[in-house]
Amino acid sequence: MKRERLAILGASGSIGASTLDVVSRHPERFEVVALTAQRRWEVLLEACRRFHPRWVVLGEADAAGALREALRREGMATEVREGPSAFAEVARHPEVDTVVAAIVGAAGLPPAWAAACAGKKILLANKEALVLAGGLFMEAVAKHGARLLPLDSEHNAIFQALPPDYDRNRPDDFGVRRLVLTASGGPFRERPLETFPDITPQEACAHPNWSMGRKISVDSATMMNKGLEVIEAYWLFGLPPSRIEVVIHPQSVVHSLVEYRDGSLLAQLGTPDMRTPIAHALGFPRRLEAGVKPLDLVRLGRLEFARPDVRRFPCLRLAYEALREGGSAPAALNAANEVAVAAFLQGRLRFDRIPAVIEATLAQLPRRELDTLEAVLEFDRLARDRAERVLGREGA
Ligand code: NAD
Ligand code: MG
Repeated sequence: MKRERLAILGASGSIGASTLDVVSRHPERFEVVALTAQRRWEVLLEACRRFHPRWVVLGEADAAGALREALRREGMATEVREGPSAFAEVARHPEVDTVVAAIVGAAGLPPAWAAACAGKKILLANKEALVLAGGLFMEAVAKHGARLLPLDSEHNAIFQALPPDYDRNRPDDFGVRRLVLTASGGPFRERPLETFPDITPQEACAHPNWSMGRKISVDSATMMNKGLEVIEAYWLFGLPPSRIEVVIHPQSVVHSLVEYRDGSLLAQLGTPDMRTPIAHALGFPRRLEAGVKPLDLVRLGRLEFARPDVRRFPCLRLAYEALREGGSAPAALNAANEVAVAAFLQGRLRFDRIPAVIEATLAQLPRRELDTLEAVLEFDRLARDRAERVLGREGA
């Protein structure tokens, strides 16, 4: 049987590592043909030794040069490409069947878009792409016959709990009443609110249940991650915001649920380990061994659920508001959040001021209809500029 040819975008990250781990368990089924990273060439070198891809792409030219030299010394034939446009080139390459879109942030949109327009099978972790350009992206997927499978654990759970022929344009025909996204509540679910100004990047990146990249870890701590996921769910599954609910579930074992008209609630459960949704999407519709520890229900004992506190997590409210408003508002939300999170990680902004910076940026931006990819990317730049200016006035 011909092996499925994979391009893994964001291969040096947390999702990239989990994907390579699952893929390494099935060498007869998958061939890694392309790997990408922005800068960490040593991680790609190690992956080249294990998977011998045809191409690697690095965003930064210095890193590409270093990797080229190291590969030459080891006598490996992998070709090194560089620069942002090379991400999209491998994503649309005719010798790639499936694209794992695991770049963090808006930078992941152009290559994911290229994959959609080339009709690829896309395993999507990069939720920001849908937040920025959900309508256009879903149109491109449909128009070019691409196949979109969610890797985000909540959306993968919902995908698993929906009927196989589910059509996002007609949720009511399938009796879907609402979607319930679970959220761990992050590391600060119970931390006294008055200590929020003291939160350090290290504390924010220490998630109780998941080990993830730094940006998404901060998003989980503010719960903007769940807000972005509500928007992601809207585009993937076609339910209005009033029918997408968020519930706190500290154990992160129920990964999300679908409620049907007849009262049934279908959930997907498992050990919190991203290799499960990754293996599900890689193998779909067949199940693959993922190396994940089975869930011991008896040892777990109980599952808890609670309503999120929007005073503690204003980012969740901001995301719902942006989704309800539509147009360019979700793109503005995403850009302001990326700028604010980067500033927090660099020690330029206090944790508790992240939502304020986002809200102030949103208030200052014009509203637009973004009906081309270029318009989205241009608006993203404008929103980042505006967010930087708002930050400048913060004086952290
Ligand atoms: P990470 O920070 O560990 O890795 C990010 C990857 O993106 C790296 O390979 C990096 O080189 C690449 N990258 C960064 N900036 C880039 C740029 N400007 N151009 C090209 N490549 C760039 O992040 P992660 O935790 O693996 O998350 C990746 C994506 O998956 C995010 O969108 C995140 O929201 C989503 N996601 C992650 C998890 C998780 O458990 N980590 C779960 C669900 C969804
Ligand atoms: Mg998630």
